Amino acid sequence: MTHPREVDAVIVGAGFAGMYQLHRLRELGFTTRVFEAGDGVGGTWYWNRYPGARCDVESMSYSYSFSPELEQDWEWTEKYPAQPEILRYAEHVADRFDLGRDITFETRVTSAAYDEGRERWLVTTDTGETVDTQFLIMATGCLSASKLPEVPGLDRFQGQTFHTAHWPRGGVDFTGQRVAVIGTGSSGVQSIPIIASQAAELTVFQRTPAFSLAARNRPLEQSEIDQMKARYRDWRAAQRASGFGVPIEPATKSALEVSEAERTAKYQGAWDGGTLTAIIGGYTDILADREANETAAEFVRQKIRERVTDPQVAETLSPRSYPIGTKRPCLDTNYYETYNQPHVHLVDLRKTPLVGLTETGVATSEDSYDLDAVVFATGFDAMTGALTAIDIRGRGAVALKEKWSEGPRSYLGLCVTGFPNLFTITGPSSPSVLSNMIVSIEQHVEWVSDALAHLRQNGLGTIEATAEAEDGWVAHVEEVGNATLYPQADSWYMGSNVPGKPRVFMAYIGGVGPYRELCTEIAENGYRGFALTPALTPA
Ligand code: FAD
Ligand code: NAP
Repeated sequence: MTHPREVDAVIVGAGFAGMYQLHRLRELGFTTRVFEAGDGVGGTWYWNRYPGARCDVESMSYSYSFSPELEQDWEWTEKYPAQPEILRYAEHVADRFDLGRDITFETRVTSAAYDEGRERWLVTTDTGETVDTQFLIMATGCLSASKLPEVPGLDRFQGQTFHTAHWPRGGVDFTGQRVAVIGTGSSGVQSIPIIASQAAELTVFQRTPAFSLAARNRPLEQSEIDQMKARYRDWRAAQRASGFGVPIEPATKSALEVSEAERTAKYQGAWDGGTLTAIIGGYTDILADREANETAAEFVRQKIRERVTDPQVAETLSPRSYPIGTKRPCLDTNYYETYNQPHVHLVDLRKTPLVGLTETGVATSEDSYDLDAVVFATGFDAMTGALTAIDIRGRGAVALKEKWSEGPRSYLGLCVTGFPNLFTITGPSSPSVLSNMIVSIEQHVEWVSDALAHLRQNGLGTIEATAEAEDGWVAHVEEVGNATLYPQADSWYMGSNVPGKPRVFMAYIGGVGPYRELCTEIAENGYRGFALTPALTPA
C-alpha cells in the first residue's frame, strides 16, 4: 500500500497513545500517518517481553474507556495482566478499529523540522521517507528509550546479554545457566523470581533496593468481571476524577495524628489488598512529610524482614536512602522469597561498586563473577529520552534537545513554545507516569483531537504555547513538586539515573482529576495561554 507524503497529522509511536490518537483523528476526518519503530502495535507491551512482565494497575482499569463496546467485549483473565495478554489486547484493538493500514512499522522517525513559511512540519524517517504534515503528535512513550549501565566492557563479555526492554520474541531459557541480573527496579523485581526458577545460579547486582509490595495476583472471577462491566461508566468517571487514575478512598488524616495501632491496621489492610496506591495514598502526608513517610516505609521494611530468612540479606534489600513512593514502588510475586533459595545471591553495589563486564562475567571492586548470561534491568532514559533522540527543530531551527538542556519546558506537558502544532502525549510536566497511564493517555489524546478540530472549524492554522504560559507552568510544576518528598530521591522521575541529565522533577503531581479540569477549562476559555493564528491562504 502506498501512503500519502502529505497529511494533516503525523503520529510517532503505536503504543496505546498512538493507536488511540490515530483512531480519534480518523473519526474527525484528518488524514493521518503513524510511524512505529517496532513491527507491531503495543509499545511498552510489544518491547518488554521479559519473564514476569506484568501491569501493576488492575486489568479492568488499565484498559481503554473510549469504546463501551470494546469494554464489554474484552475479557481480562487476571487481576494484574501479564505482558502477552496486554499485547493481545492492543492487537485486538488495532484489528477492531482497522488501525494497521495507516501505520508504517519498522520505521523510526529521526528528525522533524518546522517550516515557518509554510507552517508545516517535515518529518524524516530512517527509511529515507519525508512526510509533510500540519500537526506532529509525539506518542513516543515515557519509558521507551532503554538504557544500559555506564560501565566499561559491555561488548567484551562473551556470554549472552539481554535488556528487559528488548527481550527476544521467543523468550530465553536460562536452564542450567549462571545468570546475572543488574538492576532491581520494577523490571528486575518482576523478572528475578522467574529467572531464578530456571537458572543454576542467579546473582543479583543491586545498587538501590526497591520498596515492593506483594501483588497477590489471581485469576479474575466471572462475577467481578460482570460487576465491573455493569458499572464501568461510573468507574471510568471516578478514574478520571481521581489523583492517580485509580479511584481510592481519599485520605483525610495525617499518618502522625493516629495511633500506631490504627496506622498499622490501615497499612496491613492496604498490604492485604495488594494495590500500589493504598499504602502511599493512605494518609495525606505520606508523600509530603518525611516522618509520616517513615511510618509506611518501616511497615514495608518489616514485611521484607518477614519474607527474607537471612537478616543480613533482608537488611540489604531494605531501602533506607529515599522515602517510600519517591522512586516508583513495585508489586511483586515472590520477589523477596527468591533470596531464600541457596542458588540466589545478592551483591550490594553500594558496598562493592560495579567495575564493568569482563570476557567471562561481571567485575565489582571486590570480586569477579563468571557468567553465561547477563540481564540488564537498568531502565530507561525516561520522559525525555525518546523525544530528544529525534532531531526536532522548531522556530529558528532551535532543537528541542537544546531547549530542554536544563530540563523539559512545556505548557501543560502538551505543547512547547517555539514548536507550533507539536504535541507531546503524556509529555514531561504532565501527570503521566504518576498515574494509571491509560487514563492520562486518553485525556491527552482527546484534548489534542479537540484542539485540532477547533483549529479547523475556526479557520486557524497554528496553535503554540505562549512563553508566558510556559514559564508559568514550569514554575507551577516545580512548586507543586517541591512541596513533596519526590525531589529527595535519586530516581528516573528526577532524571538522576542518566549521568549528566539535569536534576528536575519531570512529572506533575497536581493529580489526574484537577489537571484534567484545568486542561478542559483552558480549552473552553479560548485556549488560554496559547497563540492561535489564522490558516495561511494558499498562494
Ligand atoms: P509506549 O507504549 O512506550 O509506545 C511508544 C512507541 O513509540 C513505542 O512502540 C516505540 O517503539 C515508538 N517510538 C518511540 N520513538 C520512536 C521513533 N522515533 N520513531 C518511531 N517510533 C518510535 N503504566 C501503567 O499505568 N501501569 C503499569 O502497570 C505499567 N507497567 C509498565 C511496565 C513496563 C515494563 C513499562 C516499561 C512501562 C509500564 N507502564 C505502566 C508505563 C507504560 O509505558 C504506559 O502504561 C503505556 O503503555 C505507554 O503507552 P504509550 O503509547 O504512551 O508509549
Ligand atoms: P528502573 O526502575 O529505572 O530500575 C533500573 C534499575 O537498574 C535500578 O535498580 C537502578 O539502580 C539499576 N541501575 C541502573 N543503572 C545502573 C548501573 N549503572 N549500575 C548498577 N545498577 C544500575 O527501570 P525499570 O525497572 O525498567 O522500570 C522503569 C519503570 O517502568 C518503572 O519505574 C515503572 O514505571 C515501569 N515498569 C512498571 C512495571 C510494573 O510492574 N507494572 C514493570 C516494569 C517497569 P538505581 O535505582 O540505583 O538507579
